[in-house]
Amino acid sequence: MTIEYNKLKVRVNLDNLRHNLRVFKKLHDNVIPVIKSDAYGHGLAEVARALKGEAETFAVGFVNEASLLRRSGCEARIFALLGPQDEADYAALWDDRVLTAFGQMGQLEEAARLAQDRGPLDIGLKFDTGMRRLGFLPEEADEVVAFLKANPALNPVMVTSHLALADEPARKEAVDRQASRFSRAVDTLRGAGFDVEANLANSAGSMGHEACRHDSLRLGISLYGGNPYYGTEWAGLGEDLKPAMEVSAPVMQVHALKKGEGISYGWTHVAERDSMVAVIGVGYADNYSRGLSNTGQVNIAGRRAPILGRVCMQMCAVDVTDILGEGTPVVPGDRAWLLGGPGEGYISPDELAGWWGTITYEVFCLLGMNPREYL
Ligand code: PLP
Repeated sequence: MTIEYNKLKVRVNLDNLRHNLRVFKKLHDNVIPVIKSDAYGHGLAEVARALKGEAETFAVGFVNEASLLRRSGCEARIFALLGPQDEADYAALWDDRVLTAFGQMGQLEEAARLAQDRGPLDIGLKFDTGMRRLGFLPEEADEVVAFLKANPALNPVMVTSHLALADEPARKEAVDRQASRFSRAVDTLRGAGFDVEANLANSAGSMGHEACRHDSLRLGISLYGGNPYYGTEWAGLGEDLKPAMEVSAPVMQVHALKKGEGISYGWTHVAERDSMVAVIGVGYADNYSRGLSNTGQVNIAGRRAPILGRVCMQMCAVDVTDILGEGTPVVPGDRAWLLGGPGEGYISPDELAGWWGTITYEVFCLLGMNPREYL
């Protein structure tokens, strides 16, 4: 769902996406951009189009995302990580040429039944090596092989799994354990004569765990310039990545707030000095979290303006006393940057996520639901 009526603008720099992908291609020549959830809020079809020719495969989550992408004109291989959920999904595997990750015997049985009419199908297999969400256990690999041998219309071409702790450098041992459980599943399939692509690493796994790189990387958050090591130091390539999303909203009114006056619902901020405030046209209805009340900042003309009081449904107020005091004008119609923006006031995804009490993934997905424009 896109929020259509508001004044927020999300700007996506497609060159930065291409740049970030190329940074990861220094690690591996086969990088699969993960563009699920509307490309983490950056736009499914737009991002795929921008990366056309740069990647052989794109990954999405659900099969219906893959169908949307196929119908937008994408001709590359599309890998739906979450497997078929319903009848429409199964039909789309053939109709929209979707490769998906099967992780339960019931799914394989249904696909084998349909293949009798629909013909052969390339499939992916998902193994649960430690995330404990979806997939076969590596111990079940022999059973999977036996089923596939008995149902040759299903042709496994990809084996995947997801790392639970790749973003925590101190817990490398757990990543190694997952990698070795993954190898066990891959070896079983290859030992049975199946020529499968082994695909394990996400952004953090690609950067920090060479042993997880296998035949391809799945690049999600760092494609968008986000740091997967939230709360910890960047590892490896981090400093080369460029965030692609910037978000701004209009200044609606600028006025004085006298010392001792409260502002916004609940007067949770009371001015400690005679101040100047700018009212900004963004609020929680635009997915700008109410949790940013009294903690977040915006960037106006390259300078920081702290949020005063509660973030409301469509507005919030910020302190521009110091910006005006330096002689920089702030007037209605100016843009206030919630993410990115000019000069020293640049707000990084990590910083915004920190004030918000979340991770950059959620910041991108939520703010990205607003109207977007592309550079
Ligand atoms: N693979 C799967 C199965 C995922 O769920 C995700 C993201 O959640 C990714 C890959 C990409 O991970 P990241 O965004 O950390 O690179």
